[in-house]
Amino acid sequence: MARRKLVVGNWKMHGVGSDLAEIETIAASAKGYPQVDSGLCVPATLIERAVRAVPGFPIGAQDVHFADKGAHTGCLSTPMLVDAGATMVIVGHSERREAQNESDSEVRRKAEAALRAGLLTILCIGESLEVREAGQALPTVDQQLDASLPRDCPVEGLAIAYEPIWAIGTGKTATIEDISEMHSALRRRLRSAYGDAADGIRILYGGSVKPANAAEIFSVLDVDGALVGGASLKAADFLPIIEAAALKG
Ligand code: PEP
Repeated sequence: MARRKLVVGNWKMHGVGSDLAEIETIAASAKGYPQVDSGLCVPATLIERAVRAVPGFPIGAQDVHFADKGAHTGCLSTPMLVDAGATMVIVGHSERREAQNESDSEVRRKAEAALRAGLLTILCIGESLEVREAGQALPTVDQQLDASLPRDCPVEGLAIAYEPIWAIGTGKTATIEDISEMHSALRRRLRSAYGDAADGIRILYGGSVKPANAAEIFSVLDVDGALVGGASLKAADFLPIIEAAALKG
C-alpha cells in the first residue's frame, strides 16, 4: 500500500526564540512539497511560539507524560501539548529511554495517551551497537516494538521510527540491506498486531539521515519517511531531505 512520506525534524535541546526565523524558512519551503507530510518537534518552550509563527505547519513535542494531570514535576501532558497547539509528539526516543530509564511499558502508555489525544505519535525503537554486533538486532527490536505498541486504542496517527542507537548523531547510517530487512520485519509485526489497520502506519528511518543519503534510504521498500535530528536544524539541510522524500513519494 502506498503511504504518504513523513519527514519530521527532532530539534532535541536546540532552539530559542531567535531560531523561529529558521522554523519559518523551513515551513515556507516545505509548502513546495505538498505530497510530503513534514513537521518539526521542537523544545517545549518553543511550541506555542512556533505554532503562531508557522500556522498550518505541524509542530510537535519530543516527549509527553501518559497522565492527563497530576503531581509530575517537570512533565507535560497531552492536553497541555494540544493546548499549546502541538499536533504531534515523539515517544520512546532512545535518548530518553537511556537517560530517563523509560521502559517499553511506559512508552506504550505515552503512545496510548498521545493517540487518544489525536496527536500524530512517533514511537521510536532501535538497537544498541552491542546488540547489532551480537546479531540480535531483529529479535531485540521486534520484542521492543511488541512491548511498546499501543493497545486498546485507535492506531490512526501512529508512526514508528526505527532508529539504530549507534547511528543517531554519529554520522553512521545502517546499510540499505539492514534498513530493508528491519523495516520489512517491523511491517510484519504491525500487521500481526493490528491487521489491516497496520497499512496506515508509517515506518520512518532515523539515524544520521542527511541530504547525501536521503534519496537512497527513501528508495527502500517499507521506508515511509524519516526522523531527522542534526540535519533538521537548518533549512539548507532539511529541505533537500524533504525534497528527496517528494521525489520518491
Ligand atoms: C534523532 O534524533 O532521532 C536522530 C535520528 O538524530 P540524527 O539525525 O542527528 O542522527
